[in-house]
Amino acid sequence: MPELPEVETTRRGIAPHVLGKRVRAIIVRQPSLRWPVPDAIHACEGRKLQSIERRGKYLLLGFSNGTIIAHLGMSGSMRITAPDEPPLFHDHVDLVCSDGTCLRYCDPRRFGAWLWTTDDPALHPLIASLGPEPLTDAFNSDYLVAQAHGRKTAVKAFIMDSHVVVGVGNIYANEALFMAGIHPKRQAGRISAPRYEKLVAAIKTVLNDSIIMGGTTLRDFVGGDGKPGYFQQTLRVYGRGGQPCRVCKTVLTEIRLGQRTTVFCKTCQT
Ligand SMILES: [Zn+2]
Repeated sequence: MPELPEVETTRRGIAPHVLGKRVRAIIVRQPSLRWPVPDAIHACEGRKLQSIERRGKYLLLGFSNGTIIAHLGMSGSMRITAPDEPPLFHDHVDLVCSDGTCLRYCDPRRFGAWLWTTDDPALHPLIASLGPEPLTDAFNSDYLVAQAHGRKTAVKAFIMDSHVVVGVGNIYANEALFMAGIHPKRQAGRISAPRYEKLVAAIKTVLNDSIIMGGTTLRDFVGGDGKPGYFQQTLRVYGRGGQPCRVCKTVLTEIRLGQRTTVFCKTCQT
């Protein structure tokens, strides 16, 4: 599933090719995505694409008269194709620029989204309730301590809750908790401020590392499959259940926590 770093890498990969260009047409071959692609999306035709921003895992394509809110869902990807390149079976939406450049959306499982809003996208129901961006100063230990106050939920589920902070997917939650030395099942409300400080730093590090790795795949957005490298970073615990901890050699424990695979070191994480 595309996580925040992949979405950010997608944003950086497509922007140089389409930003500032006029949209000639939106071609919808398959409107049945997670929600139907609205006819109103054609309102951007003839307008210039003024901005490409990311909020959580949503991409916001801004025009003078509205915004496309796009989401990659479970299996979506975007790539830049040549003007006359025929679409493949799962290529459901094209954004065609007046110079022929095409931003093409592929989504085999169709859980993604292409929506249109004429309001401030920050007020859209999908976006208004999102927590802060993890890589901004708004996400800090004071904030996290305040959010955690009195909460009995496991810290791993807590940091994966998009109302608390956006973009901390399962892999990143596992890795960050290991780096911070925090047991994934520890109650969120029973973790000290200094430990939350470590956790905040760890979350920023794992996400930044992944975005930096993604940066090496930016060229894949033209002529490639538009899928940024996903498992390129060396994972410390995720996918390593039953193998020795890279720090202390204890065999890593794998459990299910809130339906998600959770791997930790019972020696390093308390
Ligand atoms: Zn260990």
